[in-house]
Amino acid sequence: MRIEYDRDTCIGMFQCVAEWDAFERDEDAGKAVLTDSEEREADLFVREVPEDAEFDAKFAARTCPVDAIALYDDDGEQLIP
Ligand code: SF4
Repeated sequence: MRIEYDRDTCIGMFQCVAEWDAFERDEDAGKAVLTDSEEREADLFVREVPEDAEFDAKFAARTCPVDAIALYDDDGEQLIP
């Protein structure tokens, strides 16, 4: 599973941080940080989700009020949102 985080869309309410510890707070920027991710294009951060974190990652994606977090399965099909 792959996660994509759109930092530009993020409004910094930090619900995702409570769901998966790969998301951290950047209080100064008012944005979440996706740890261990790669910036594939400007403000779009991507990483693999370890199998034991898939549940938490799904909750993080579902809880985001502005759909800044997307999840894809290994075939590239979008699961959330
Ligand atoms: S839940 Fe969404 S809007 Fe809130 S901090 Fe996380 S990515 Fe940003």
